[in-house]
Amino acid sequence: MVKVLLWVVVILAVILVMRVIAAQKLRQNQQNRTSQHNRSQPSKGKAEPMVRCEHCGVHLPRSQALMSDGHTWCSLDHAKHGPRK
Ligand SMILES: [Zn+2]
Repeated sequence: MVKVLLWVVVILAVILVMRVIAAQKLRQNQQNRTSQHNRSQPSKGKAEPMVRCEHCGVHLPRSQALMSDGHTWCSLDHAKHGPRK
């Protein structure tokens, strides 16, 4: 009888330890996910500076604009025309 009780206690202890380990793993996964989420957010929301074509006044991302002599243009054609008077 004492042996059976001992086995029950051992099995309960093993179950308890497994549940604690599983809960810790779950918490670590959630922490990893939230930290990755926080890291990915700033790059996602990073806005490219906008510039204005000096001929037609259209706004476009800096990487797509043509630049010459400190002026910005939306196209080569507008760069040839120059600023609108
Ligand atoms: Zn333009």
